[in-house]
Amino acid sequence: MTPPDPHGQDDPRRRIPRTDDLLTHPTLTAASPHLGRSDILQAIHAAQDLARQGQIAPEDVLAQVIAALPGSSSAQRPVLNATGVVVHTNLGRAPLSHHAIEAVVRAAGYSDLEFDLQTGQRGTRGEGVLAALRRALPEGTDALVVNNGAAALLLAVTTLAAGREVVVSRGELVEIGDGFRLPDLMVSTGARLREVGTTNRTGLADYAAAVGAETGAVVKIHPSNFRIEGFSSEVAVADLATLDAPVIVDIGSGLLAPDPQLPDEPDATSALRAGAQLVTASADKLLGGPQAGLVLGETGLVQRLRRHPLARALRVDKLTLAALEATLRGGPAPVTTYRTAPEGQLQHRASALASQVGGRLRRHDGLVGGGGAPGVVLPGWAVALPAELALPLRTGDPAVVGRVEADELLLDLRCVPEESDDAVAAAVLSALDAGRA
Ligand SMILES: *Cc1c(COP(=O)(O)O)cnc(C)c1O
Repeated sequence: MTPPDPHGQDDPRRRIPRTDDLLTHPTLTAASPHLGRSDILQAIHAAQDLARQGQIAPEDVLAQVIAALPGSSSAQRPVLNATGVVVHTNLGRAPLSHHAIEAVVRAAGYSDLEFDLQTGQRGTRGEGVLAALRRALPEGTDALVVNNGAAALLLAVTTLAAGREVVVSRGELVEIGDGFRLPDLMVSTGARLREVGTTNRTGLADYAAAVGAETGAVVKIHPSNFRIEGFSSEVAVADLATLDAPVIVDIGSGLLAPDPQLPDEPDATSALRAGAQLVTASADKLLGGPQAGLVLGETGLVQRLRRHPLARALRVDKLTLAALEATLRGGPAPVTTYRTAPEGQLQHRASALASQVGGRLRRHDGLVGGGGAPGVVLPGWAVALPAELALPLRTGDPAVVGRVEADELLLDLRCVPEESDDAVAAAVLSALDAGRA
């Protein structure tokens, strides 16, 4: 048989569908309403190449394009968090409440973000969030929302101490993860670090000896991801407030008021009452909102931060503002529900999962995580399964991420929405099936 003449009439390559015809093919447009043109074009060109190389028939090009299209418009995939770690930084920290998700969707189009619908004039950006924060905090407190906790500290230190000294305890020079260190962040503002005390003990006299004409601010950082135990001491905010310098307190995890279940976790109300000029925090840790940073403090000072040129570079978008406002105004955020889930209920759910999939029920402590409450354990339960299931569960749909400990995979339902328990069971059964096949 002679090979087909590439220029002849019967060359199969002539039957490869043209790009324009494929792009407008109803089957393809129906299969990809959420995909961008470049994703579709890429799939089309790849399928046409396969046909040109003779690896697929020209008639199969359309089916090949559809099979190769990415399943969704974002590479970020939802995960069922079966680790028992509530604020899991690698899994996107706080999951938003239904209220917050609805608010994000409502704000996604045009909105009255900076527009007063009554007067038709320019309005205040994020007024709803600021009002909700002011209501939750001591009277006279103003608030500013920025990109994250690090940005909040950056803006506070820049405004108060750029070109001057920041006095900070050696016990509070914290690395927050992924190699990022708060002392480096503070130095990047042009402030000079004035370290006082020792790793385990710092007293008021240490601060007092360092505070002087060069001091821009005293910064107190909550060492949120580790604990120094034993022979240690730190200085309370109320005592720092007696020094002749403004005090910035980075509380980290964003509790607005004391939580009796987290007695060692600092909160904004207490720090402000104790005399902190500024409090900075993350919004997506224990507060349970979207990624954002809060700067809270006395009105005049917060106004100074708001007018700093850097504030514009650190500001958040309308989706964040919408999610944060809904988080502040709604009931308990998912992180709070998960953190406080009754042990009996967790045991019941884990036991149901164990009987569905054949795993072993065992006790398992959850964690607050995300650089919060490092000493606190959350008593709960898990289902122990063979560790070989970890990979198929992670890469399945939905992705289920558990905790691998020794040679076991532990699935803890604490941070799984209860309505997804069946989805976890189905995922395990299908991973077991695939393993047997
Ligand atoms: C988490 C944390 C930060 C950083 O906050 P991000 O929102 O991650 O930028 C800073 N300081 C403390 C004490 C923290 O716990």
